[in-house]
Amino acid sequence: MKAAVVTKDHRVAVVEKTLRALEHGEARLKMECCGVCHTDLHVKNGDFGDTTGITLGHEGIGIVEEVGPGVTSLKPGDRASVAWFYQGCGHCEYCNSGNETLCREVKNAGYSVDGGMAEECIVVADYAVKVPDGLEPAAASSVTCAGVTTYKAVKVSGIRPGKWIAIYGLGGLGNLALQYAKNVFNAKTIAVDINDDQLAFAREMGADIVINSRNEDAAKIIQQRVGGAHAAVVTAVAKSAFNSAVDAMRAGGRIVAVGLPPESMSLNIPRLVLDGIEVVGSLVGTREDLAEAFQFAAEGKVVPKVQRRAIEEINEILHEMEEGKIRGRMVIDFTSK
Ligand code: NAD
Ligand code: ZN
Ligand code: ZN
Repeated sequence: MKAAVVTKDHRVAVVEKTLRALEHGEARLKMECCGVCHTDLHVKNGDFGDTTGITLGHEGIGIVEEVGPGVTSLKPGDRASVAWFYQGCGHCEYCNSGNETLCREVKNAGYSVDGGMAEECIVVADYAVKVPDGLEPAAASSVTCAGVTTYKAVKVSGIRPGKWIAIYGLGGLGNLALQYAKNVFNAKTIAVDINDDQLAFAREMGADIVINSRNEDAAKIIQQRVGGAHAAVVTAVAKSAFNSAVDAMRAGGRIVAVGLPPESMSLNIPRLVLDGIEVVGSLVGTREDLAEAFQFAAEGKVVPKVQRRAIEEINEILHEMEEGKIRGRMVIDFTSK
């Protein structure tokens, strides 16, 4: 089967791979599609260490073809996901307290184990979340990382109905953050990006305020227009966006860090202390978060913007991502031959 594999020279090669036999508790999915996340770009570039030989992909959706011994949670024909949170140890403090994505022995698809950017993928059945009826696979693929991550981040932000949340970065993740914040949490939304096309898209999705931070001081405008935001979700891959989010908060505001630029942000300590600002990281979402995120998408409250592409185009897609040319998500399609 074809698989998109990270090479030593930081490219992706589409190669023939053969899957091993299933072990206890595992299932084999015939992949329908897999979204390309900016994290794939970080992984390919070696931002989180060397991953040569790993099959990319953690926005995967496939149909169960075969189950190994002991599997009761999936059966052949089910549609299920391949997410970044591939497997936890199942018995540690984090796994047992609703924080399973923080498990110290976690396995991540497309990073520490082979992921879903391939014609077939092995999953641990109890960790693959089923896709509800009524959600088509390309849309479901976006929810598997971008959707669940931002749904969870908006949850973590503690935003309440009618309050202001600023979304920094309106790409694959950010446009879904905006939709979850607006259509599920009923918040007032501010979209901040450096790209006018992303902002036009945000406006279409109903953002109450849009700001191009390339030309304007986003924090200043947010302070002037609404007295500061109650919360922010930062998906932009730039330190400047994290710093701006701090300045955009009203007292007591909470910034949820989601984007992964490999650098440090600056925090003014008196601002943090005197204004009670919180900065918290949020990592994907639990299986329960993903089931919830899927359900809201199945109900049409959140509609991922996706474009189907061929696996052979993966390097081109990653290049377009680096150049900031992608609206919504590019999704590798394994169903058209
Ligand atoms: P993307 O490339 O689709 O979108 C990034 C967006 O940020 C683009 O719209 C870009 O124009 C915008 N941007 C760039 N610089 C900016 C700035 N200075 N201010 C405002 N906007 C700016 O990427 P994505 O797939 O949405 O992923 C975003 C980040 O989130 C990546 O670093 C990715 O690794 C990370 N991520 C984190 C998690 C998590 O669990 N925390 C999960 C998935 C992805
Ligand atoms: Zn991702
Ligand atoms: Zn654990």
